[in-house]
Amino acid sequence: MIGKGSWGEEVVDVQRKLATLGYSLGSAGLDGIFAEETECAVKRFQRDRGLPVSGVVDEGTWQGLVEATYKLGDRPLYLRAPFLRGEDVKKLQSWLNTLGFNTGAVDGIFGPLTERAVREFQRNIGLPSDGIVGDSSLDALHNLRNVLESNARVEFPERRTSSISLFKGRKVVVDIGHGHPDPGAVGPTGLKESEICEDLGLRFGNLLELLGAHVLYVRERESIDLSERARIANDAQADVFVSFHLNGSSKTEAAGTSAYYFASGNRYSRKGKRLAELIQRELLFSLNRKDNKVRGKNFTVLRTTRMPAVLVEPVFITNPEEERLLREEAFRQKIAVAVFDGVQGYLRGCER
Ligand SMILES: [Zn+2]
Repeated sequence: MIGKGSWGEEVVDVQRKLATLGYSLGSAGLDGIFAEETECAVKRFQRDRGLPVSGVVDEGTWQGLVEATYKLGDRPLYLRAPFLRGEDVKKLQSWLNTLGFNTGAVDGIFGPLTERAVREFQRNIGLPSDGIVGDSSLDALHNLRNVLESNARVEFPERRTSSISLFKGRKVVVDIGHGHPDPGAVGPTGLKESEICEDLGLRFGNLLELLGAHVLYVRERESIDLSERARIANDAQADVFVSFHLNGSSKTEAAGTSAYYFASGNRYSRKGKRLAELIQRELLFSLNRKDNKVRGKNFTVLRTTRMPAVLVEPVFITNPEEERLLREEAFRQKIAVAVFDGVQGYLRGCER
């Protein structure tokens, strides 16, 4: 038992946990001495947790402090009596709710509603629906963390349809521009379009897969022929085709965002245009670069694909500022999330 008059590492431990939870220790801070202010903080913690307010850290209080400072992933979460409680449960609940799986109140208590939401989540991403948040569920959630916590506008929580049921069973072809030995455009400091496109394509594909979509990448390292790329998509009867490229110009001041759909003469793809507009809107919103507009183009991959197809050029790799941004992982993730949001908006539109 730790209480007034105790001192040492154990007390520092208690104080650290209290501070992490937002309980003020006054001017003493983490001094390892259990005095007035630490006692007050313990009492407030006990009151908040519905524990007997003794001001002494007994076994129950210690257990409470440990649970309250758990981070998601520190332990498996599942339904048991008494219910597991903690910050990790709270985090889990808020993520599940954001994804459209209702856990009820975000109260940090793993009760039956939370368990049901976990099972539903697991079913939707193709995991055994055991209601236990262990490694595989956590991996899926951690990968989603980038999406859920990115600054980009992520509109998961339209509750009528969870994003997962929106993507479930959809086939999306991710066409990664260029590829060995063709690097595509090259930036002022040597960044290669082909390599950035691989990264963007994979980030985009990961988001789709986590939400239950079937993702087909048209190339690995080696480049393949443009009409072959379209054939793969047609054979797969994909729902959507997204081609990743970066713009390039001999004028290094050229900068900004564009998205392309098929158009030739007075023929154009109406669905492709819609998809391009939605993606462009998200890219502009999230990247805040110059608007080079949505354009109709007679590109082979756009012309010969039979599903709505878009080719994106989120920025110019030949522009020094934009090349620098492309080196930032957070910026690349923003691009992937924006394209993903555009596709999501498109699929929602089709639903109505
Ligand atoms: Zn290109």
